[in-house]
Amino acid sequence: MNMKTDDAIVRLEDVHLSFGQTEVLRGIDLTVDRGNAVSIIGPSGSGKSTILRCINALVTPQRGRITVGGTRVDQLATESERIALRKRVGIVFQQYNLFPHLTVLDNIVLAPTRILGVAQGEAEKLARELLEKVRLSEKAGAYPGQLSGGQQQRVAIARALAMRPELVLFDEVTSALDPETVGEVLAVIRDLIRDGMTSILVTHEMRFAEEISDTVVFTENGRIVAQGSPDEIFHTFDNPRIRQFVGGLS
Ligand code: ADP
Ligand code: MG
Repeated sequence: MNMKTDDAIVRLEDVHLSFGQTEVLRGIDLTVDRGNAVSIIGPSGSGKSTILRCINALVTPQRGRITVGGTRVDQLATESERIALRKRVGIVFQQYNLFPHLTVLDNIVLAPTRILGVAQGEAEKLARELLEKVRLSEKAGAYPGQLSGGQQQRVAIARALAMRPELVLFDEVTSALDPETVGEVLAVIRDLIRDGMTSILVTHEMRFAEEISDTVVFTENGRIVAQGSPDEIFHTFDNPRIRQFVGGLS
């Protein structure tokens, strides 16, 4: 067993994944250090969401290794092992999927009480702290349908944080939002990253990725074709595909 201590919380090594005949990931190597923020950018269909889904054990690669905080995610044998992993790895999607019949507070309290067995009072206290963090204290008693898309997405972020995850995956969480509410969601994510939350973000918000990332990864056709600091990816690398992609979006 490798007992070497290092700062890596997530490590993908030579990860290959196919859906039927379609090769979607063709040898992904990616390391994320604790407390860092890594942005994944790249064209649609290049495998970005699949990388996140691998890390969260929603799909299993056919080849390669994935470790999250010492756990071999690619070798989880049972659904209960996968659920245990998902308690440690939060994920926030483009579609926030809040329970419409529950208040904002109850949406956040549900998983900690049901899945972690946290006492109701304690879960509510944490939920109110998280609502403050996502700047929605005044909406605790509201129903999702009474909120804007950006507000609902901030509730979804609070809900993910209520499980006290070791890291959070964000999959294009602002892509479905009205432009005027994108900024408030990005501001919340920026705060989290500044507080030291390990984060992996798939995003089309190039300026945001440049501002908050420790590392930016560019995917194309199931491969990571460039990886570097924001300055390297956005300003230095002389790769015409990246130049075209970044230029077309920023
Ligand atoms: P991205 O997030 O970069 O847009 P995805 O990771 O969602 O890309 O998808 C990569 C490729 O895998 C796409 O061609 C997509 O159609 C395909 N794909 C994703 N999920 C499935 C699935 N469950 N079954 C079959 N093909 C899939
Ligand atoms: Mg995607």
